[in-house]
Amino acid sequence: MLDDLYQDLMLEHAKQPRNFRRIADASADAEGFNPLCGDRVHVYMTLSDGRIDDIAFEGSGCAISTASASMMTEALEGRTREEAQALFRRFRRMVSGEDVEPADQEGLDELRALAGVRRFPMRVKCATLPWHAMLSAIGDGEDDQSVKGEPA
Ligand code: ZN
Repeated sequence: MLDDLYQDLMLEHAKQPRNFRRIADASADAEGFNPLCGDRVHVYMTLSDGRIDDIAFEGSGCAISTASASMMTEALEGRTREEAQALFRRFRRMVSGEDVEPADQEGLDELRALAGVRRFPMRVKCATLPWHAMLSAIGDGEDDQSVKGEPA
């Protein structure tokens, strides 16, 4: 039952993605490409004092990457760089099938709709693609798992 609800939420975001637009005067932006699935995403952000004032994306990809990008923009608006990085780590643990302690679920909210990809290892990169683009936009040196530029 809960799975069905989450599935619906995921499909709803995929069909009508939030913040699907380009930010013309973005202060940070980056593209990501997932050759395993063909997903492309371009993430735009307006940062001021290290806080994400506005975040949006464009691109074309599968339902999972689109829904993940849509939910990510909603989850990150108003957060600091550090909070965005921390939320990414929790999100990645969740979609890779690692346990996320209840105390450590802050901010995951709707993103839980994507937890099901843990059963499909090939799709984990679809879910994390927009996040990797977001991390390279904010200049996160820790992001060594970017799928960008990897051979197909
Ligand atoms: Zn995909």
